[in-house]
Amino acid sequence: MILSSNIHTHSTFCDGENTLEENVMKAIELGFESIGFSSHAYTGFDFDECGIKKENIDNYFNELERVKEKYKGRIKIFKGLELESRVSGDIRPTIDSRLDYTIGSVHMVKINNKYYDVDYTPDIAAKAIELVSPLEYAKLYFEELASFAEDTPFDIVGHFDLITKFNEKKHLFSENEEYRNLALYYLERIAKTGKIFEVNTGAIKRGWKSIPYPAPFLLERLNELGGKVIITSDAHNKDALDYAFNDALTIVKKAGFKKLSKLTEDGFVEFAI
Ligand SMILES: [Zn+2]
Ligand SMILES: [Zn+2]
Repeated sequence: MILSSNIHTHSTFCDGENTLEENVMKAIELGFESIGFSSHAYTGFDFDECGIKKENIDNYFNELERVKEKYKGRIKIFKGLELESRVSGDIRPTIDSRLDYTIGSVHMVKINNKYYDVDYTPDIAAKAIELVSPLEYAKLYFEELASFAEDTPFDIVGHFDLITKFNEKKHLFSENEEYRNLALYYLERIAKTGKIFEVNTGAIKRGWKSIPYPAPFLLERLNELGGKVIITSDAHNKDALDYAFNDALTIVKKAGFKKLSKLTEDGFVEFAI
C-alpha cells in the first residue's frame, strides 16, 4: 500500500467525532504504518468553537503519549496541531516543543476588523465577498497564508486554496485568469519557503468538492517549482482516514509528481510513487 498514513486527523479534542484511540484502532485496521493528529490549536478567540480548549492542551499531549505507548510496535503516532494563522491579540501562534509537526492554515479573513470564516458556510463566505470583491477576498486569504508561511516555522501548508470550498456547488466567484494568476503568485511565494503542501481530500468527503485542494493547475506549477506534497484526508471521523486517497494519488501523478512526502521518526522524507 503506497498511502499508509494520514497526518491531518481531528479528534474529540477539537471538532472531530472520534477519540484519538478510536482513530488509532481504525488506522491499524486499515494497515497504516502511522497516523498523525492535528487538532485545531487553541486560539483564545471567544468565537472559536473548533479549537482545543486551553484546559485540555496538556491532556491532549498526555493522551497522545498514552496511545503511542499502548500501540507501540503496531503503528507510529505523531503529535501535531493545525495552527491558525492568528490567535487572540491578532498575533502569530507559538509552536509547542512537544509537537512532532504542525500544519499551518488560514480559516478566516479579516474585513473591517471582523473575522469571516471562509470554511464554515457558503453564506458567510458570500457575505465576506460582498463586502470587498471576489479578487480582494482571495487576496486577503492568500496574503494571510503567505505571510504566515514566511514568518512561522510550521511544516505543512494546510488546504492552500480553501476559499474554493463552496465554489463548485454555490459558485461564489469566478476562478478566472485573474484569480488563477493571483493564486499562482502566492503559490510561488509559499513554495519558496520549502514547506510541504498537503493535497487535502476533506471537502470531497463533505460533499463540497469533487477534487482535492490545491486545484490541478496549482499542483502542476508546484511540481515545476520542485515543491513537495503529502496526501491527507483532513479526517473529522475515523471512517474518513483514507478517504479518496487513490483519487488524490492519481491527480498528483497527473500533475507530474514522482514523489510524495511522509512523516517518519526522523522527520519528513520523500518516497517514489
Ligand atoms: Zn483546516
Ligand atoms: Zn483540518
